[in-house]
Amino acid sequence: RLATVPTAPPDAILGLTEAFNADKNPNKMNLSVGVYKDASGKTPILNCVKEAERRLVDDESTKGYLGIDGLPSYREQIRALVFGDQLPADRIAVLQTPGGTGALRVAANFLVTQLSPIRIWMSSPTWANHPAVFSAAGLPTETYRYLGSDRTSFDLDAMLEDLNEKTSPGDAILLHACCHNPTGIDPTADQWKEIAKTVSERRLLPLIDFAYQGFGDGLDEDAAGLHTILSTVDEAIVCTSASKNFGLYSERVGAVSLVAGDSAAMKASQSQLKAIVRANYSNPPRHGGAIVAAVLEDAELTAQWKVELEEMRQRITRLRNQFVETMKSTGKGHDFSFLLPQRGMFSFSGLTRMQVDQLKNEFGIYIVGSGRINVAGMNEEKMQSLCDAVAKVLES
Ligand code: PMP
Repeated sequence: RLATVPTAPPDAILGLTEAFNADKNPNKMNLSVGVYKDASGKTPILNCVKEAERRLVDDESTKGYLGIDGLPSYREQIRALVFGDQLPADRIAVLQTPGGTGALRVAANFLVTQLSPIRIWMSSPTWANHPAVFSAAGLPTETYRYLGSDRTSFDLDAMLEDLNEKTSPGDAILLHACCHNPTGIDPTADQWKEIAKTVSERRLLPLIDFAYQGFGDGLDEDAAGLHTILSTVDEAIVCTSASKNFGLYSERVGAVSLVAGDSAAMKASQSQLKAIVRANYSNPPRHGGAIVAAVLEDAELTAQWKVELEEMRQRITRLRNQFVETMKSTGKGHDFSFLLPQRGMFSFSGLTRMQVDQLKNEFGIYIVGSGRINVAGMNEEKMQSLCDAVAKVLES
């Protein structure tokens, strides 16, 4: 029977990395997948993480199962990190999940099983895995406009028009809390207020994807949009990830946090979330959550983490600035200064699919077809050759 199974298309982003690995070009550059790299091209293990792991080796006394919702100390630390003291703890259920993707999947299953009929509205564009995860859970997806026609700015009016004219009360809306993937374009504080007002007036349920806390302007600054939303609605779901800000990509650690109107509603929803997890993967892996908890429970390790996170954030900003400057210096009036206000690992370059193909085929530079560039994958030493190549395809 398996002979009838057709081959699935390769993943749009991870498939590019396979092609990159096979490329023989010595100057090749992978700016597709969203992973942070340091100056030597490596994705480092943070020192605070190494130290936490050393302590875990000494102190961990069991590999017994965690509860369905994960490690209590991790859950408590994530609640504090994401929500601060804006809301009473008894309105928030936090479940440790396998990465941010696991959080999104649990959230999608919850929406379908508990709140149907429901649709989710996603920005166009959004992270390619969003529609895939939601559809796999049977959650119908719709899109609202996000990018302006220049493809380099945020069109708030278009977004609000779509929300006002197309959504139904009770629908869910996906929002990127910061570092919008793939565009790097975030709403300003005032724009967040307008979005929050519309979300509340239209009685939409916000599903906030917060995969990059600390990669935009700072830990608290990056949570500001989310707090604006939470100040106008009683109910929301927040999906977080420790993949980027703790560099724990392969440990698969994230969380789904549900905010309810009161404690009783929170407890009922929490019980449903746990039933969903039990039938999916039973309970989450311990190690990543234990690392995050060990760091955040220790003042010294937390201070170290903040320094290391800040270093990553500043490096990305430096590389983005350097790219803009170097493009300018190619002497052909290539003005990429629209990249400067963009935040996070990604920038929408405005390059067309044809230009992206040319960069790959002629120069071994791998960028996602939409023109999304992983700025965090750039490198000071290769900046000139990258910009020369981009200038060449822009002129051809
Ligand atoms: N949401 C967004 C917007 C992302 O970019 C990512 C990671 N690329 C995730 C969620 C999921 O991250 P994780 O690796 O923790 O599953």
